[in-house]
Amino acid sequence: MSAMQKQMQKEMPKQSPKEVINIQGLHKTYVLDGVQVHALRGIDLTLHQGEYLAIMGPSGSGKSTLMNIIGCLDVPDQGSYWLNGQDVTKMHSDALAQVRNRELGFVFQNFNLLARTSAVENVETPLIYAGVAKAERRRRAIDMLQRLGLAERLYHLPNQLSGGQQQRVAIARALVTRPSLLLADEPTGNMDSATSAELLTLLAKLNLEDGLTIALITHEADVAAKAQRKVTLIDGQLEHN
Ligand code: ADP
Ligand code: MG
Repeated sequence: MSAMQKQMQKEMPKQSPKEVINIQGLHKTYVLDGVQVHALRGIDLTLHQGEYLAIMGPSGSGKSTLMNIIGCLDVPDQGSYWLNGQDVTKMHSDALAQVRNRELGFVFQNFNLLARTSAVENVETPLIYAGVAKAERRRRAIDMLQRLGLAERLYHLPNQLSGGQQQRVAIARALVTRPSLLLADEPTGNMDSATSAELLTLLAKLNLEDGLTIALITHEADVAAKAQRKVTLIDGQLEHN
């Protein structure tokens, strides 16, 4: 390498953060009783590592449709979706299931915890699918619950926990596989305002301190205000605010 090349390399700008999501020209149309519903009409969206994005929009604007595609639970009819540099629209269902398990963490409105199963066993579940050995599963589940402030609640059942604690178990379960992206669809939807504030503080902390990349769906402006970046869906099209 010449002296000049070395000098140029030194002066090269630092590489920008990795693209987690790259969506271009995405369309999704449902047909119900012969009637077409254009749920998504040409979505372009990128999300970089470490960003915290809120996707807003009124009911019926296409939020869940977009989230299901981002979460590899559904496929678009048109357009491209690259997740961490992989074209997921070209993948078959087995590969998609692997991508979901390895790259994505999901948080749902109703927590979706297994009822007669302790907090620690709930958190271990995705590690079973990931093929992690039993002792290691337990170690990682306990570690994640401790990090989320549930060290004293490891063996409680969901119905022995408060709503906020249940949501933290659900987040621990979403994060225990170390996903590159956390997806949350209306996570505060069923919560009282104190529990909702607690959850939002936790998400902001995970984003700021651990660099967790987050895409959160909400129709509430005060929830979206806690994110670093906001976009709004209107009739299947995105407005970047
Ligand atoms: P949001 O989550 O913003 O409320 P959705 O993505 O659920 O919006 O829905 C967007 C549009 O697509 C709505 O008009 C809805 O009725 C329609 N839709 C959603 N899912 C289906 C489906 N499985 N079959 C037919 N229409 C659907
Ligand atoms: Mg929805």
